[in-house]
Amino acid sequence: MSVVENFRQIRDALPGNVRLTVVSKFQPESVLLEVYRAGQRIFGENRVQELLPKYEHLPKDIEWHFIGHLQANKVRYIAPFVHTIQSVDSLRLLEEINKQAGKHNRKINVLLQIHIAQETHKFGFLYEEVKKLLAERAFKDFENIRIAGLMGMATLTGEERQIRREFGNLHAFFREIKNDYFSDDRFFIELSIGMSNDYRIAIEEGGTMVRIGGKIFK
Ligand SMILES: *Cc1c(COP(=O)(O)O)cnc(C)c1O
Repeated sequence: MSVVENFRQIRDALPGNVRLTVVSKFQPESVLLEVYRAGQRIFGENRVQELLPKYEHLPKDIEWHFIGHLQANKVRYIAPFVHTIQSVDSLRLLEEINKQAGKHNRKINVLLQIHIAQETHKFGFLYEEVKKLLAERAFKDFENIRIAGLMGMATLTGEERQIRREFGNLHAFFREIKNDYFSDDRFFIELSIGMSNDYRIAIEEGGTMVRIGGKIFK
């Protein structure tokens, strides 16, 4: 099947409440444009130096989501246009995003990335860290940021039960902090979990956004 056929098949099978980030890292602009013409507007990239030329050359109504580990000193390059940074894993990074977004008079959506996998090399906050920061109201003063939800990556394993447990725990945490800290916040809605190999489980466990690359561009 072609890339566009893969894309359509995945998109058309998603439940109505689940959004799709097409993860276009390593893909050439021409291929992104095909998927764009088939109707997709949300694309995810994980490297600043790859995102910048794509932003320059591709249609301006694309909603760019940054999904990789982001160094604070690179935020300024994407702050003029990035829609959502899904991979915020420190207070320092939040502060920098807020500052750079302010320079452009923008609000940038962010998702707090939570470390839910067993692998230690995956980035993200621990549950307790986020709770502590929320309790200290550390996120309240950011005028140029919208905290739009949480993101997580499950352990890379064939053990479905483990993936399900990791996503399920994150969903429970999402509901808990939504209830405790974001109950009157209409922007805190997104639970971004699930990639090519585990997105069906993610949807069953309450995901509202899936990030899919390989299964579209294979
Ligand atoms: C690459 C990547 C994806 C997409 O993974 P696939 O398995 O190719 O679908 C999703 N999320 C993040 C954070 C990624 O880096």
